[in-house]
This record gives sequence, structure tokens and C-alpha cells, in this order.
Amino acid sequence: MTGPVIREVEVKSIMTKSGLPVSEFVINPYIGCTHGCMYCYASFMKRFTGHSESWGEFLDVKYWPGIRNPEKYRDREIFIGSVTDPYNPEEERYGRTRAVLEELRGSGALISIATKSDLVLRDLDLIKSFPDARVSWSVNTLDESFRSDMDRAASIERRLEVMRIFHEAGIRTTCFISPIFPGITDVKAIIMRAKDQCNLIWLENLNLRGGFRKPVMEYIRREYPQLVPLYEDIYSHGDMGYWEALDEELRSFMAGLGLEYVVNDDSMRRPFDAPPVVVNYFYHERIRKKASGRR
Ligand code: SF4
Repeated sequence: MTGPVIREVEVKSIMTKSGLPVSEFVINPYIGCTHGCMYCYASFMKRFTGHSESWGEFLDVKYWPGIRNPEKYRDREIFIGSVTDPYNPEEERYGRTRAVLEELRGSGALISIATKSDLVLRDLDLIKSFPDARVSWSVNTLDESFRSDMDRAASIERRLEVMRIFHEAGIRTTCFISPIFPGITDVKAIIMRAKDQCNLIWLENLNLRGGFRKPVMEYIRREYPQLVPLYEDIYSHGDMGYWEALDEELRSFMAGLGLEYVVNDDSMRRPFDAPPVVVNYFYHERIRKKASGRR
């Protein structure tokens, strides 16, 4: 198999105003992502790139004019990696994520980084130099064989190991349990593995609205035929029962562990040493209505 098609491209600016609730600005040092996750929510980006290769088979490496007056980002939230993994394997060679962190070093910006990689370890000291930096790793299984069917990123063991190292280094870490595959993702087992080495646990359900619906359903039919009726109930008939039951189950599981469980919101920063807060982002609006009387 040949490697991904790599292009180097010049862009006007690396900083983009964000429409995301979690941050004011986003930075994506690459276009595309060679982790090639089967369920990638960013794969819609392909149509803006002019690439004919499949998602996961190309990568545009961005070069930009230096950030002017980086200190204007003091106390502003910047999310790195909303539609790419900033620590995809090519980062080792091109170092564009490291370059942007170097440009922002000392600015006082509040950075959050999302990844599925262990390469982020290379930049630990640099990331630590930012106030209140946060790094999240996506973990939606402890089964390496399911993981390797889904993506070409670091093993789950490596993600958890690097999360632990960051946490021990005093950097805020998030375990992003996403996407939760009905009948496959063992949320409780992941929480038990991660809870002592992270500050936040985010839960997000699999949604199948994008172009990845077909490959995911084909995969379920092939590898988990017993789950096909459940997936059809959820994704063809809009049945929310699975998520509601999981929400209930997790609520009592967290209560048993003494972990705070909130729905769709975690605006408050807790002390670093406090136990992690678990934030449920299942179909926000619909579940939230039902959950609101119980918080
Ligand atoms: S790591 Fe993230 S951006 Fe990259 S393919 Fe996977 S889901 Fe998409």
C-alpha cells in the first residue's frame, strides 16, 4: 500500500474564529487526517479540498504567515484539532502543530488539544508552558482489534499511558469516550481505566448522519450481525431507548463511584486534584429535557 498523498499549502492565517461552544478560536495545522477513522465527523471537509483520494488518504500541510501579536490571545480559548488530528503521524516530519505552539508560547492563550496519538508526548514541556492547558484523547473501546478496525491512530494502551504521563505532569487531561458504539463500547470499563488520570470524561454517542453511515453499517452487518436490529432501531427508526437506558445506568454508576455526572455542560473548572467530572453529550437537546428534572 502506498502512503497518503501529501501537499504543502499556504494559507492566509492559521487562526480561525470558532463557531464551537467550547472555544473562541480554532487551529487546524493540517487539512485531512491520516488516522482515517471510519466514523470521522470531519470527513465532510474532503469536498472543500479538491482531493479525489478518500478521506484518510491525503493530507494538506499548512504554512501560514506568523501569528501577529500573539499576546492578544491571552485568556482566550483556542481549540487545536477540530477537523484534523494535530498529532497525526506526519506531524513528526512537518512539525506544524509544534510550530504554532511555539508561536503562541508565552502568549497566555488557553489551549485545548484533541488527539488520538502518543506523539503529543514530544511537546509535553511546551504544552506545560501554557496556563491551564488541556489535552484530550478519544477512547471508545479497550479492545485493540475493534480499535484497529476503526482507525490507524495509536493503540488504546498508548493513549491511556500518555494521558497518565500528562496528568502526572500536572496538565489537565480529558478522556473523550467517543463515539460510543451501541452494544460495543463498554463505557464503564473505560471510565474505570481512565478515572484516576483525567480531569474530565466526556461521553458522546455515535451518530450516523454523515457519509460514513454506509461503511459503519456494513461493518456492523459483517462483524456484529447480532447488533443489526439495535442499530436499525436507533439509526433508521430514531429510537432513543438505548441512550436513555445508558444515561440512567451511567448516572447510578457514577453515583456509586462518587463522580459528578452532568448533562451537556461543564463550564466550571474544578481544582486539579478533584475527581473527574463526567459530562454526557448524548443527543443534547432531547436527553437533556428528560434529564433536567433529576439533576
Ligand atoms: S483522528 Fe479525528 S480527525 Fe482524524 S480521522 Fe479520526 S476522527 Fe477524523
